[in-house]
Amino acid sequence: MRLRNKPWAEDYIHNHSHIVELNPYERKGQWQELFDHQQPLALEIGTGKGRFIDGMARQHPEMNFIGIERDKNVIVSAIDKLNDPDVHNAQLIHENAKDLRDMFGENEVDYLYLNFSDPWPKTRHEKRRLTYYTFLEQYQNVLKDDGVIIMKTDNRQLFEYSLVSFSQFGMTLQEVTLDLHANDDGTNIMTEYEEKFSEKGQVIYRCKASFTNNTNLK
Ligand code: SAH
Repeated sequence: MRLRNKPWAEDYIHNHSHIVELNPYERKGQWQELFDHQQPLALEIGTGKGRFIDGMARQHPEMNFIGIERDKNVIVSAIDKLNDPDVHNAQLIHENAKDLRDMFGENEVDYLYLNFSDPWPKTRHEKRRLTYYTFLEQYQNVLKDDGVIIMKTDNRQLFEYSLVSFSQFGMTLQEVTLDLHANDDGTNIMTEYEEKFSEKGQVIYRCKASFTNNTNLK
């Protein structure tokens, strides 16, 4: 998505420090202090305009949410959605997620969401895919032992690639659906991209994977 540059976005982000943590590297290991309640922590990478984190935060008051988005032109829309006194359990980070380990302590995160991540179809861009093994190493570090990665995409190549990448990393698949909307139990929160692509007739894939292979899965 090409978006018009918003020269005011940087200031806007700084003026909403109650929603955006401006010093995420200093917050490492202490994210729960930002929230009213200490409760399971979910992280979304590539939050975009924020419909998912906003919907999830409202649907799950028993969880805390953090969204990471590096593009200032879209995070401002996520700020607007979360700038609501009814929402106490969501925060944003305006950063590149490549240094996740410097922002989150070991075992600090319970759930990690990847929604419609950039597919980077060219082989020479493989390292940029958010399911490349260097990212998985970071996810493993910040996730609890029984933590779960939940990935949604319309992109079949990225989905296939990610299943193999999870497998090669020794991860356990807990769920794979090749048509999420055909199997939706009514709890699925659609992202902006999800709505756009499904309106065009694309199927939506989802999988859940964890780094543990024990039977005490979430
Ligand atoms: N999740 C949203 C947006 C998907 S587009 C939706 O489903 O509607 C992918 C988003 O991920 C873009 O907004 C892009 O800026 C962001 N992104 C990609 N790589 C990132 C990274 N390394 N760190 C932070 N954000 C990233």
